[in-house]
Amino acid sequence: MVRRGSPVQVRSRAVELKNAGVPVYYIYPGDSDMASKKKGNVELIALQCSECKRKNYTTSKNRKNSQAKFEFSKYCKFDRKHTVHKETKIK
Ligand SMILES: [Zn+2]
Repeated sequence: MVRRGSPVQVRSRAVELKNAGVPVYYIYPGDSDMASKKKGNVELIALQCSECKRKNYTTSKNRKNSQAKFEFSKYCKFDRKHTVHKETKIK
């Protein structure tokens, strides 16, 4: 077995963390901050057909940026046409 002089010591921090079992995406604290901020303002909503009252779509909404209730013209497969879909709670 041939031993070389000195092992290569150049390792990135990401590799060190990965070897320690830490997922690499945790090395940027800014990312997790952003994620928690998003969680606070963005909520999931359902879009309910105004004709048959079925909830055909879900989407997310940023409460901070858009305070008015969402209304979209979307295709309803039960009515087989475009109808107004209004924002409601998912459950
Ligand atoms: Zn409908």
